[in-house]
Amino acid sequence: MKQNNVEFDTYFKDYPNEAGFFGKYGGSYIPPELQKAMDEITEAYFTICKSSKFVSELRRIRKEFQGRPTPISYLEKLSGTVGHVQLYVKREDLNHTGAHKLNHCMGEALLAKYMGKKKVLAETGAGQHGVALATAAAYFGLDCDIYMGSVDIKKQAPNVARMKILGANVIEVTDGLATLKEAVDAAFSAYCREYKDAIYCIGSVVGPHPFPMMVRDFQSVVGVEAREQFLSMTGELPDAVVACVGGGSNAMGIFSGFLNDPVDIYGVEPLGRGASLGDHAASLAYGSEGIMHGFNSIMLKGEDGEPAPVYSVASGLDYPSSGPEHAFLRDIGRVKYDVVNDEETIDAFFTLSRLEGIIPAIESAHAVAYATKLAKKMGKGSILINLSGRGDKDMDYIIEKYGIR
Ligand SMILES: *Cc1c(COP(=O)(O)O)cnc(C)c1O
Repeated sequence: MKQNNVEFDTYFKDYPNEAGFFGKYGGSYIPPELQKAMDEITEAYFTICKSSKFVSELRRIRKEFQGRPTPISYLEKLSGTVGHVQLYVKREDLNHTGAHKLNHCMGEALLAKYMGKKKVLAETGAGQHGVALATAAAYFGLDCDIYMGSVDIKKQAPNVARMKILGANVIEVTDGLATLKEAVDAAFSAYCREYKDAIYCIGSVVGPHPFPMMVRDFQSVVGVEAREQFLSMTGELPDAVVACVGGGSNAMGIFSGFLNDPVDIYGVEPLGRGASLGDHAASLAYGSEGIMHGFNSIMLKGEDGEPAPVYSVASGLDYPSSGPEHAFLRDIGRVKYDVVNDEETIDAFFTLSRLEGIIPAIESAHAVAYATKLAKKMGKGSILINLSGRGDKDMDYIIEKYGIR
């Protein structure tokens, strides 16, 4: 299949190119000191991760530890509310630790082990990535340093406790606003000092090359499984695939299974409280080209050209940029990006829980909300939604802010 001169038969061999570009997006914009570390990871990725030993070990871990493959569930009652469209969910909420993030953390930590590193390090905002990485580090017997802003440490006490119970060091960052951006800066500078013994594990398809490619490839297990499962359940492919986009890793995971198929693909960004800057985190919908955290992509900027403050009801989606591959897939028209707001999302959160017995993460509820709107437009056919995670982590927030509906 071909679109805008991009050949999808060979897409994964062609993109990104050797320098890590998807068209003009991606690349590596970092200090020379850090570039050495990235080159080492890229080199290791193409040798170690492509070896049959690594591939079969990761497959075994996915099955025996993570509980993969995760199933696809048919949403009979929710489908009944949208006319003649059949809705299905890929159940990443049933992946160990309750979300898709462990898919790439296990890959990154296994690579660290093969490279002879003693430690993995990363930043975390809401703590979801920190918990997934701490889990992977415990499994492989690696040290784990998680950098976290002091504001987030206060807000996310249960995840801080989880990381500590799993044996990770949670390192408090007090600079600036003391949230995710400062935590990223602190983790990057720690990595500059420690890269001989440690590897940096990014939490999404963002950051300098090779991370957007590597995280996509580790997440592609979701799309590979989903395509096969959907075919065997229904005898055909879905008409549409829908996923929420923060950095974009769960979306790239499921999208990668369907890019070369006649399937419409939709990425859903959070519109939050509305379309004014500061009220949402819909970078692909409202942003412009720019560089942050070592890569070129589409981002939300303030008047000073710096990353703008963003907001979403889902703390996993409030990132001012998106992975470079999403920017590329948007420009060539292969994936459509659209938005849903907080209110539509919270409605979908309660509806899915009540009708289907699945409490979704608020992030994932964005995809569910969009799929029900899309279904009403489509009139017939089928939609596969990536349910990126479960909602246990959101209970306190939901009860406090919305009560029980
Ligand atoms: C972190 C998170 C996301 C957002 O990250 P992506 O890289 O965009 O997938 C979405 N859903 C859940 C459940 C998460 O924990």
